[in-house]
Amino acid sequence: MYINGQWCEAKSGTRFDVTNPATGEVIGDVPNGGREDVVAAIDAAAEAFKTWSKTTAYQRSAFLYRAYNLMIEKKEHLAVTMTKEQGKPLKASRNEVQYGADFLLWYAEEAKRIYGETLPAPRGDQRFMVQQHPVGVVGAITPWNYPISMITRKVGPALAAGCTVVLKPAEATPLCAVEMYKIFEEAGLPAGVVNLVTAEKPAEIGEEFTNNPKIAKLTFTGSTGVGKMLNQAAAANMKRVSMELGGHAPFIVCDDADPEHAAKGVSLVKFLNTGQACISPNRLFVHKSIAEPFIETLEARVRKMRGGNGLEDGISIGPLVNEAAVAKVDNQVKDAISKGARLVCGGHRLMDNGMDKGHFYAPTVLADVTEDMLIYREETFGPVAPVLTFESEEEVLEKANDTNYGLAAYIYTPNIDRAFRMFEGLKFGIIGINDINPTAAAAPFGGMKESGLGREGGHEGIAEYLETKLGGFSI
Ligand code: ADP
Repeated sequence: MYINGQWCEAKSGTRFDVTNPATGEVIGDVPNGGREDVVAAIDAAAEAFKTWSKTTAYQRSAFLYRAYNLMIEKKEHLAVTMTKEQGKPLKASRNEVQYGADFLLWYAEEAKRIYGETLPAPRGDQRFMVQQHPVGVVGAITPWNYPISMITRKVGPALAAGCTVVLKPAEATPLCAVEMYKIFEEAGLPAGVVNLVTAEKPAEIGEEFTNNPKIAKLTFTGSTGVGKMLNQAAAANMKRVSMELGGHAPFIVCDDADPEHAAKGVSLVKFLNTGQACISPNRLFVHKSIAEPFIETLEARVRKMRGGNGLEDGISIGPLVNEAAVAKVDNQVKDAISKGARLVCGGHRLMDNGMDKGHFYAPTVLADVTEDMLIYREETFGPVAPVLTFESEEEVLEKANDTNYGLAAYIYTPNIDRAFRMFEGLKFGIIGINDINPTAAAAPFGGMKESGLGREGGHEGIAEYLETKLGGFSI
């Protein structure tokens, strides 16, 4: 762990193992932090805030630039660590390291654009000035599916704003966090500005983040269930929150779209990270008239995907995070089949070529999916593409919006009027229009409804770490 500029063990003296989800091998271990450790980290962050919040935007920017450059220099090392610890194919890990670094670069620049305002005052002898101030010490909790970019997407804007941070990474991927903290250390960040507490049991850390008076803000990425619980606890103490939670993205292919192009698109985005992404398409609504060629193309593409250890060439399907994830996916597939879905391909664990030692599930396509199936409502977080058909735009819009989630949605149509109607009608925070990757450091990422609160990335992302302060001056 990294507390107050020092690498340290947990006060309890215990550590926990980290395993490779592709091979089941133990690849390292980290300190098992608890309440005492996180309190020490919060104290350090609170002390460091006194000086860090007074640095100039140019100074903070320089630290972020250095960290960005170090990430690029160490890209291959970070990517290999990620593939071993999280399982995604090496090429995808490299992409994630770049995406993660982009947030440091973007917020190195945004640090210098925290503008204020002067306002007309109602009295002649009065002047109004509005400034943005850093909220204070930030508690950050990150997930295992994007174990590096979810750190920089929080730490980047927090530091740029003038906040200090205590991070608790996911227990499945603490090694990526340790590598990132080596970079923050090498970038020369003053002691206490960024702190890292690894923990096998996250609840105690979450409680401290939501109760400790020195924490001003909690930023969380993870499941909707845990997010709701943390949000409730944070509300009791009026802490600011950002919540990046689950999704259940519709992927709509209209009758005027090219079904093959759309199927290629979905085959790329659905199986990225083995479906373990909150913006992964979860319901594929395809117009009845083009369902057949769409499914044919999708099937042909999916059958070519190879599962295996992401360090090997030609692998596109890495392991799922653990056995519970495999069981959840398998249960959704079995439930769908028992209720009448047609299994187009996949639908089983992958066991050959040593995959029996990891948590692999075959890339799967289901057709004839209906609303009574679990997969229609529950987030899958796995490599399953469930296809449904529809007949009218009104019908599909209503069905697409019929979910408690509101993170990402995708629509394929060459018709500009329809594209606008759907863009405006879909109740989701991120919408890809003939586009499968509507994300970038410069773009606001976040969801409506139970998919979360706040946005990360873009200029919105730094606002989450700032408070507005009004000065009324009598002259
Ligand atoms: P997932 O189901 O995708 O693993 P989680 O929401 O369980 O999602 O995990 C996301 C992050 O939330 C991880 O860092 C995990 O340790 C953390 N987490 C899980 N439960 C709690 C909790 N009760 N309090 C604080 N953090 C938690």
